Amino acid sequence: MLLQLTAYIYPQAPPSPEKHFDGKTWWEHIKVVADDRMEGRETGSEGLRKAEAYVVEQLTKAGVQPAGTDGFYQPVKFISRRIVEKDCSITLIRNGAVEPLTLGEDAYFNTRVDLTKEEINAPLVFAGYGLKIPEKNYDDLVGLDLKGKVAVILTGFPAGIPSSLAAHYQWAGERWKVFREAGAIGIITIPNPASMDFPWSRSSLNRTHPQMDLADPEFNELAGQKVALTFNPASAGKLLAGSGHTFQELAELAKDQKPLPRFPLQVSLKSRVHVEKQEVTSANVIAKLPGSDPLLKNEFVVLSAHIDHLGIGEPIDGDRIYNGAMDNGSGVALLLDMAASLKREKLRRSILFVFVVAEEKGLLGSKYFAAHPTVDAKSMVADFNVDMFLPIVPLTVLKVKGLAESDLGDQATLAANSFDVRVVADFQPLRNSFIRSDQYNFVRHGIPALNMEISFDPGSSQQKIFKDWLTNHYHAPSDDVSQPIQLSSAALYEEVMRKLLIAVANADARPQWKKDSFFRRYVQ
Ligand SMILES: [Zn+2]
Repeated sequence: MLLQLTAYIYPQAPPSPEKHFDGKTWWEHIKVVADDRMEGRETGSEGLRKAEAYVVEQLTKAGVQPAGTDGFYQPVKFISRRIVEKDCSITLIRNGAVEPLTLGEDAYFNTRVDLTKEEINAPLVFAGYGLKIPEKNYDDLVGLDLKGKVAVILTGFPAGIPSSLAAHYQWAGERWKVFREAGAIGIITIPNPASMDFPWSRSSLNRTHPQMDLADPEFNELAGQKVALTFNPASAGKLLAGSGHTFQELAELAKDQKPLPRFPLQVSLKSRVHVEKQEVTSANVIAKLPGSDPLLKNEFVVLSAHIDHLGIGEPIDGDRIYNGAMDNGSGVALLLDMAASLKREKLRRSILFVFVVAEEKGLLGSKYFAAHPTVDAKSMVADFNVDMFLPIVPLTVLKVKGLAESDLGDQATLAANSFDVRVVADFQPLRNSFIRSDQYNFVRHGIPALNMEISFDPGSSQQKIFKDWLTNHYHAPSDDVSQPIQLSSAALYEEVMRKLLIAVANADARPQWKKDSFFRRYVQ
């Protein structure tokens, strides 16, 4: 009704711009890569191989060229680590008395770290947010004796620290560098209840699922870390008993991003782990669309999306297949749509389509690709990473991670505004999303990068739709093709991305970091 009335009042409205996407091809691709046959696309699995074969077939059909080391493929080797929980134990020792903890209920081991086989018996120290940020003269470790001890930290960061800077220092490797220097042997992480995407029961459900690391030791950022545990906030009182502090007090401070006290705890941790290791090979998939300018065609605008997901895990409501339709079938489908659409354009720079593996294992495929790119490293001028952009509401607001860091942010704003879409910076900094997807590995190699998600105005009714999606579908088997998705919203997102890619591919100058961006330091 309303639409018709509007049309009547403004009969001279300008014709809508040409549409390149309708959401239908996008959804057809998702229906294939998120099909049960693909078994949740676990890194190294047969299901992922099938999904990658489909992607290669579609890229070939679109007429773009292979740009891997083996046709479209770039093989990557991993070490897979699986915890054997029945042979593991954790207890707290208080004044010589043993307090057993229950794995899964109170805490679980993080096998992204190469956990030690030896038994650990070490005092615990609460180190606040566990951050050292020299740029802001901020140091949670100052004055603490951490030698031979295990640090307990609460995730988050104090107000006054820019979110990208805080995100950077929460990167596991950056964090461990600081604790290793202080002599610590491990970290117990308590998730900040104010920023948990889903309840503890779900994060602990798949704790024995294999974790991975890149096999090549050049990538081992966590060497020397012997213990890594994630601790249930609801059980954190057990760590704090006798310290003069309660977890409730700390959680309230952290929720408001206030400074946290730091102090030795009155308990020691005694733990034993058994981990089974295995070598796994998987692959990134890479394609290029050559540019037309004699000089600029040697530069690449990268469009990346992770293709892996969580595979087959513990059942929820009787379903064991974690299909990953939005995470990140949605990004894979966008890249395929974009390859087909841009093939019909004449672009000055080349476009590189990079489907990375092992994102869910800690951004590993992109870490490998950024260190060993299949084109000249200096020729990559920008990365647009697409991960779970969530067309679950009409697109009116885009949240742009990295908005203020480079002039890609200005280009994104122009592209979005031309479709009457507003742009906002990340207003949920505690979720740490700038370092939580593959763009971050490009950033660490000096390449300006952006990640855009469909968003909402804080306080609006749509906020609840996103919150409910994270609670119920994020990293759950129900992130499948039976959920309601707004195809028109996906299509509009694709239009914005297309316009942005074309603008950057055709600009005279390559994108630049802003003068005051922290990440400028990574330019080689
Ligand atoms: Zn994910």
